[in-house]
Amino acid sequence: MGRHFDLAVVGGGPCGLYASLLASRSGIDTVLFEEHESIGSPQHCAGHISLKGIRELGLRLPQRLFRGTYRGAILHSPSGRALTLDAGEEVSASIDRRGFEIYLSDLSQSAGTTLALGERVRGARPAGGSLEIISRLRSAKCKILLDAEGYPPRLLGEMGAWSPGDYSALIGIGAEVEEAYAAREGFVELYFGRGIAPGFFAWLIPLKGGGARIGLATEGGNPRQLLDRFMRDRLIRSGRLPDRPRMVEVLPPHPIPIWRGGYKTYGNGLLVVGDAASQVKPTTGGGLFMGMRCSSMAIETAKLALSAGDWGSDALSRYERLWKGAFSLELRLMGAIRRAIFGLGDREMDALFEGLSNSALVEMANSNPEMDFQGRALLRALLNPIGFISIARAFSRPFLGALFKRGSNRRVDSR
Ligand SMILES: Cc1cc2nc3c(=O)[nH]c(=O)nc-3n(C[C@H](O)[C@H](O)[C@H](O)COP(=O)(O)OP(=O)(O)OC[C@H]3O[C@@H](n4cnc5c(N)ncnc54)[C@H](O)[C@@H]3O)c2cc1C
Repeated sequence: MGRHFDLAVVGGGPCGLYASLLASRSGIDTVLFEEHESIGSPQHCAGHISLKGIRELGLRLPQRLFRGTYRGAILHSPSGRALTLDAGEEVSASIDRRGFEIYLSDLSQSAGTTLALGERVRGARPAGGSLEIISRLRSAKCKILLDAEGYPPRLLGEMGAWSPGDYSALIGIGAEVEEAYAAREGFVELYFGRGIAPGFFAWLIPLKGGGARIGLATEGGNPRQLLDRFMRDRLIRSGRLPDRPRMVEVLPPHPIPIWRGGYKTYGNGLLVVGDAASQVKPTTGGGLFMGMRCSSMAIETAKLALSAGDWGSDALSRYERLWKGAFSLELRLMGAIRRAIFGLGDREMDALFEGLSNSALVEMANSNPEMDFQGRALLRALLNPIGFISIARAFSRPFLGALFKRGSNRRVDSR
């Protein structure tokens, strides 16, 4: 394939595929490199996404890709106190992630993308105003390389734009079980506690037909052992799973990047999207909506740059302004919320749940559900006097408690 492309996308995950689809649809001559022989495998994601997000991305997904839809979430505190968030109508879905990627790839190919499967890109070097892609397809060149390789971004490291010192991630693990008993139909469940998922949370997402996706993300410990313990101590004990759950599949542990500013997401002929750019919600680890939304901004920028004949660093810096304009406040606010909430010990977390029960904040969240811009929703609540008082009440006890007992119960407990 001795061709010269306008755009080379590295990585056939959701962000790379969505970017290649938008690029080809706007007439950009695009090649997509994916290191695996097929699209959609291996998989690591639970596929939970807001319905509003799917609409905003302009996707009309076929019904077969929906494995469940949800109107809310039940949050479980470390001691078992439950808090229900109920939007009163369906707001989110769990999608068949493998099928979703294959669907995007089919659309992208029909729009004109050249797919190079089984091709790991090892680097790219400048070659007379273009970039030469270093892979088995040695002769391929492109004007712009869009890096959608996921996390950690090793290729970006090879190109000197990221270093292992920038690494900041949780480790997530997921599985699908054949049979589960949802607490309430149409609700996902989240479980908090340092003994369950230190520094984050565990989940149970019921699926149509009676199964469920379960999983957790953690900042420490062995993810597989934590998952086994979560199933045994929480799900089997509470009757959510049968005594001997049958696993349909256990997905390999995978990093979930936590954004902390740092590295650039553009360069000379270079754009970086998705997990490779740490475009992931710090409070939930969800990267589908944000990564794909940022991919569309990258393609918008690439299109302008190609038509102006200038894909240098200055021209492509527009992309970073666009995506940070849309998401950096959100990333900062959600990052602060994550640090505050997941830094709590179990007793403080329980106190927070107690403070939130029956609070005006929960009512506000129910009447105005917002999955993709939680930071903005919290800001709105803070600007409302009732919301402000409710937040101050709910958060004062655990945070004052944490201040006085800092360090007393932050270790991973081994119940
Ligand atoms: C356990 C877990 C559960 C999650 N659940 C959710 C969820 O419910 N909802 C949500 O929104 N997000 C979730 N996420 C996050 C979500 O999976 C990611 O944000 C999303 O997959 C990012 O997509 P991406 O295209 O940027 O990267 P990836 O999905 O990682 O895809 C990158 C692709 O690039 C390929 N690649 C890498 N390097 C090269 C190379 N040099 N050459 C060629 N190909 C290469 C890889 O093989 C891969 O196919 C979850 C993550 C984990 C770990």
